[in-house]
Amino acid sequence: MRKPPATAQSLIADLGLQDALQQDLIESAFAFKAPRHFIAQIQTADAEDPLLKQILPIQAENHSPEGYLTDPVGDHLKNPQPALIHKYHGRVLLIASPKCDIHCRYCFRRHFPYESHANQRHWQKALATISNDRTLHEVILSGGDPMSLSENALLKLCQQIETIEQITTLRVHTRTPVVAPDKAAQNQWLAWTRETRLNVVMVVHSNHGNELSKETGELFSRYRQAGVTLLNQSVLLKGVNDSIEILEELSHKLFAQGILPYYLHQLDKVSGASHFEVEDRLALNLHEQLRQRLPGYLVPKLVREIAGEPYKTPLIP
Ligand code: SF4
Repeated sequence: MRKPPATAQSLIADLGLQDALQQDLIESAFAFKAPRHFIAQIQTADAEDPLLKQILPIQAENHSPEGYLTDPVGDHLKNPQPALIHKYHGRVLLIASPKCDIHCRYCFRRHFPYESHANQRHWQKALATISNDRTLHEVILSGGDPMSLSENALLKLCQQIETIEQITTLRVHTRTPVVAPDKAAQNQWLAWTRETRLNVVMVVHSNHGNELSKETGELFSRYRQAGVTLLNQSVLLKGVNDSIEILEELSHKLFAQGILPYYLHQLDKVSGASHFEVEDRLALNLHEQLRQRLPGYLVPKLVREIAGEPYKTPLIP
């Protein structure tokens, strides 16, 4: 397996793309980062590779048209205390980790001030608040990526959540199993999911069928055997997955690995990601074609997150 390059420059050199892409690379505060497994799925000598496009910091990021913001989904408006984001009725999001195994250039939290949110001290206060709120039934672990925590830290956090009587469901939003399945294979955590009274739901974030490999298939099979419900959400990204063939293949590949397509998100308008935007007209057209080609259970809901709204807004009412 290819060694993970430390920089975007060394990656494009390894891929034989120096001449094609060197001039377009930029330095970014949201630095280049990608794990070994993800890198290994990228084709050599293909400047249009859909996985490569998700991780390369390029000049287009310096273009931030009107409407592109550092907090496009209003996280700060719904952040009652560090580590907690409470937007929707009955469920609350806990920022479990300040880190991810990969830096996706379209990430809506690329400007989020994680340093003042995701540590053990914040968790304890957040868990106390969750315990005292009888309206909650679901805790969502997010980040950063919760699976980037050490196994011990993740397990401890989940066990603490399990002690909160009114919580029935633990949901984990993560891209680690897709981009670094070797890191996400956590035996003790899987043993816990087999035994826990909680419903454990994992929402994996895969955007393209090329991200799903033999290794991810083996990992998801272990999750399923441990009783974890597997769903996927994708972001519709220009130049990455804005074609019917790619979206159709993604749904089939997800299902082959035991995962149901859940959401197809329109891009959150975060500063630095405008080059990924797909127009609503095309998004609706692609979704209509998916409905024509796939059984209903393989068609993700096409949605957009609008700051302040009480749920994700469907593009098709
Ligand atoms: S893994 Fe998720 S949270 Fe992390 S950079 Fe990618 S999109 Fe953002």
